[in-house]
Amino acid sequence: KSKELAGNKYQFYTKDMDDHSIENVKIENALYKALSKDEFHIYYQPQMDAVQEEVVGVEALIRWEHPTMGMISPGEFIPIAEETGLIIPIGEWVLRQACQQIMEWKRQGYACLSVSVNLSARQFKQRNLVAIVKETLEETGIDPECLELELTENIIIQNTDDTIKTMRDLKSLGIKISIDDFGTGYSSLGYLKNFPISTLKIDKSFVHDVMENENNEAITHTIITLAHNLNLRVIAEGVETKEQLDFLVAKECDYLQGYYFSKPIDAATFKKKYLQRESSTSF
Ligand code: C2E
Ligand code: MG
Ligand code: MG
Ligand code: MG
Repeated sequence: KSKELAGNKYQFYTKDMDDHSIENVKIENALYKALSKDEFHIYYQPQMDAVQEEVVGVEALIRWEHPTMGMISPGEFIPIAEETGLIIPIGEWVLRQACQQIMEWKRQGYACLSVSVNLSARQFKQRNLVAIVKETLEETGIDPECLELELTENIIIQNTDDTIKTMRDLKSLGIKISIDDFGTGYSSLGYLKNFPISTLKIDKSFVHDVMENENNEAITHTIITLAHNLNLRVIAEGVETKEQLDFLVAKECDYLQGYYFSKPIDAATFKKKYLQRESSTSF
């Protein structure tokens, strides 16, 4: 009897895997052509100063619209891009595109925003990462201080010596480094002191039910305090309600990001909604 059950379970499992891998193979094939076919776009999500509730920066988030499969979320295709190595050219494209956009807004006379770009593990381990970032800064002309690279904890706990060197080299370009999804990875707080980090991003899973879940309330508060004790800035992601906002402001979180302010939006919409000329002439 138990054998039978196990057998069924196994069958179910493999069928599931098959569906999953067929889908992945389809995505993988399409992914090879997506860059040259211009199927990627970048959406921008505002990052707000918690006190003034003013936009201080944006996070660049990739979007993929495939002609027949439709919108495919980064949660689905980024892991495949990682496995295949396609994340290298895709990631370079995102970095350049985001820096170019910031420069374009600046040239149009808008106050300069900072831009956060996500970096995957594979990109971080790439030998010429620092050279590519340097080149992108030079070619686009963006002020290095306006660029922040988002790494996850899982990236920086791997291979400490190389990691520290890469991070220091990046930092010496004048850019900032933040830890994304903070609190969800392997958390050895000791590393925070050794790495040249400027910002912690509290993962949205903690912010999500911060009002209902005492543990998450404590974790969120603790991360804010920890960041400030280490002289780091802290940003909460996934802020969706006024209650969450009020809680985070009361706990002195520095920056906020989430649907409460805006979902990620395309560049034109972002400009219309959020950019104001530094000096405007009215007649
Ligand atoms: P992430 O870097 O942690 O980005 C935040 C994710 O949370 C985004 O999902 C964003 O749309 C979503 N989000 C923002 N505010 C809220 C909110 O209030 N509530 C909820 N429920 N969600 C919110 P998205 O754009 O689907 O991206 C998912 C992940 O994919 C990102 O997580 C990041 O890890 C990865 N990703 C996105 N773009 C890139 C990229 O250009 N390069 C790399 N390497 N990874 C990327
Ligand atoms: Mg991010
Ligand atoms: Mg995150
Ligand atoms: Mg993430």
